[in-house]
Amino acid sequence: MGSGYSQELVINLKGVGEKTSKLFEKCGVRTVGDLLSYYPRAYDGFLPPVRACDAISGQVNAVKLTIIGSIVKRRVRNLSIIAFEAADETGRIKMTYFNAPYLASSLKSGTTHIFRGMVQKKGSFLTMDQPKMYSIEEYSSLIGKLLPRYPLVKGLTNNAVMKAMEQAFLGAEASKEYIPNDILDRLGLIGLSEAVRGIHFPANEKMLEDARRRLAYNEFLLFLLRLRLLKKNSEELSNSFPMLETSETRRLLEVLPYKLTSAQLQAWEDILHDISGPSVMNRLIQGDVGSGKTILAFMALLTAAANGYQAALMAPTEVLAAQHFEGFKELIDKYGITSLKPILLTGALSAKDKREAQRLISLGEVNCIIGTNALIQDKVDYKNLALVVTDEQHRFGVRQREALAGKGFNTHVLAMSATPIPRTLAIILYGDLHISIINELPGGRLPIKNCVVGTDYRPKAYKFIKDQVETGRQAYVICPMIEEGELDGLCNVTDYTEILRQNLPPSIRVEMLHGKMKPKEKDEIMEAFARKDIDVLVSTTVIEVGINVPNATVMMIENAERYGLSQLHQLRGRVGRGKHQSYCIFLNTSEGEDAKKRLDIMNKSNDGFKIAEEDLRQRGPGDLFGVRQSGDLNFRVGDIYHDSDLVKESAMDADRILSEDPDLSLPQYRVLKETLATKSANFIDFATL
Ligand code: ADP
Ligand code: MG
Repeated sequence: MGSGYSQELVINLKGVGEKTSKLFEKCGVRTVGDLLSYYPRAYDGFLPPVRACDAISGQVNAVKLTIIGSIVKRRVRNLSIIAFEAADETGRIKMTYFNAPYLASSLKSGTTHIFRGMVQKKGSFLTMDQPKMYSIEEYSSLIGKLLPRYPLVKGLTNNAVMKAMEQAFLGAEASKEYIPNDILDRLGLIGLSEAVRGIHFPANEKMLEDARRRLAYNEFLLFLLRLRLLKKNSEELSNSFPMLETSETRRLLEVLPYKLTSAQLQAWEDILHDISGPSVMNRLIQGDVGSGKTILAFMALLTAAANGYQAALMAPTEVLAAQHFEGFKELIDKYGITSLKPILLTGALSAKDKREAQRLISLGEVNCIIGTNALIQDKVDYKNLALVVTDEQHRFGVRQREALAGKGFNTHVLAMSATPIPRTLAIILYGDLHISIINELPGGRLPIKNCVVGTDYRPKAYKFIKDQVETGRQAYVICPMIEEGELDGLCNVTDYTEILRQNLPPSIRVEMLHGKMKPKEKDEIMEAFARKDIDVLVSTTVIEVGINVPNATVMMIENAERYGLSQLHQLRGRVGRGKHQSYCIFLNTSEGEDAKKRLDIMNKSNDGFKIAEEDLRQRGPGDLFGVRQSGDLNFRVGDIYHDSDLVKESAMDADRILSEDPDLSLPQYRVLKETLATKSANFIDFATL
């Protein structure tokens, strides 16, 4: 298909109407190209049917059962309900269907079917709601197949996405290959067209893995080519903003209530060495959660300011940017720091405040700009920007770093990340950066105590939170959803806040925080929590990155099985940041063995590097997809741990391609070059479809 086809709007696909296309738009899908790169988040495998006694509650099962007894039809308001029981020699399951009158004719006592759907234990019974029914022949032809499960929004069904996808493939011609054949052959990678189809409609697990690997390779190669091109531009750039150590940082180190750890001191020396040296700084500070990276950022920003320059700190969320801003102001007041004049610049500011901030920045009246993405918007006109610090580096793409660095002339870059990436991979993936590792936590910290528990533990957990709050501490509770109805069976922040208010004494102040709140409200809640005006904060994962409230000692994570391990590690990292004993409660609501095994890793270790390694070791082919949805580098299908061989291979390929053809001007790299020019670094793209 020419690029014309991928630009075609989804509404022009057969069967996609106004309503569906609006829903697609909510998912960021406007064109056929968008649709084809809208990957499933998981797959349903059609396994051979099991016996009733082997059905696992909380999971999708296919069970071969015979209908027994009578079929009960009822009406409740405008809902028609069909209920019956089905059994084999090992047990029975209660079936319920809603508004499915067409089923009535095929349901006969004594007939045998395969029922496939979520099995749930209710009291002493197993139940299935709305299971799909298959004849035995029909089902046996499906065994081994994988059906895609797409990320959905309310109103958009998986079926609708699948249908649209099938239509998209009908109109599609072969994708234009842009990886040279010798590379594909050497690595045993399949063609692009085949891979795109395979990621949506894999015939079997092998096909899925082949497709995933191929697309992962694309992501890595594009990412690394960009990185190399970026590095080529910045390498050996001379230092246009030489800095001298300021007495203010030295004094700060003396008056801080703690001593820097030796790893922090080493990193600080690395930074000083870079910014006072002959070339521009490009440094990554890698340190586990709570290792104390913020103070280093502060000292670097302060040094730039004291040397008469501007400096900026970019955070991935508004909440975190606001927290840094408040924290810095506190340090400035407390220790009488005079040279640093910070200002907050986020998308949350009113247009008027934003204009005012931009005015102060362009006049140079402030010298430390703290914010989010708003920092790289074109309107911001820096004056003498010498240093850019990015917090939680893994949340940013190379392109953002590039854009921000482009705001100044040979700006120094200090990136900070808590993602534990083995050094060999870090060198490749952050190839344009020098690396300092903070491999120790501040002394005097007690290791976090963990427990993995089931839903029946909730009352005890609430009591525990109550006790902690009564001794003066604070707690976080994390829920995956914001409000009811987004996904069944998962906790949501809105209802949970009410539940906690009812279960805790009225003196305990419970509030909520989530991404749909206005930025201003979010800030107010975070500030109130930091001031200890809130005792228990019920939140989505918006608090995952960087938030620092050392008085908080309890982290309770509902539906913990829903998260990737590195995300859990980040969440847990919100506690254990002060001198008090901290606790993390992982509430596992699944009965699956895999979930238990994965959470067990969290239970046993507080070490980010170990967790990453164990995670990799334990995962089987079934978990390859979507486990690591967040954190790490934001590849969509590539997983730097699982696909570490491809990371290394693609790094070599990128080097070879660029040494042969530094500007990618040879005909065989034309499409590759176009792709690089049009799409963001980390994302696989279908510009060539
Ligand atoms: P992270 O590395 O996760 O960004 P922070 O910089 O937010 O961690 O630091 C976590 C907490 O540890 C903060 O409250 C900070 O004041 C404190 N801290 C930082 N360095 C030290 C140290 N050397 N000794 C004791 N506490 C420290
Ligand atoms: Mg931090």
